Amino acid sequence: MRVTCSRCGQASEAMAQPPMPTALGTEIQQRVCPACWREWLRTQVMLINEYRLNLIDPDARKTLEGQMRAFLNLAPARGE
Ligand SMILES: [Zn+2]
Repeated sequence: MRVTCSRCGQASEAMAQPPMPTALGTEIQQRVCPACWREWLRTQVMLINEYRLNLIDPDARKTLEGQMRAFLNLAPARGE
């Protein structure tokens, strides 16, 4: 499967597996190139440290998901 990445606009081979076993993971696999996903993973670590996010906290997870959607140029989740 090939994707045209929503972040960098480049067409490339999609990730072999969704990065998460969720609907969001599938969406990312279909819309984001592997390089931009790796870049997000590095950015995520910095954000978690900078904002001291506790990922057990649902609010922190929601905050991080919002940051991820902005970073990857994905539309917000429906219903928000
Ligand atoms: Zn990309």
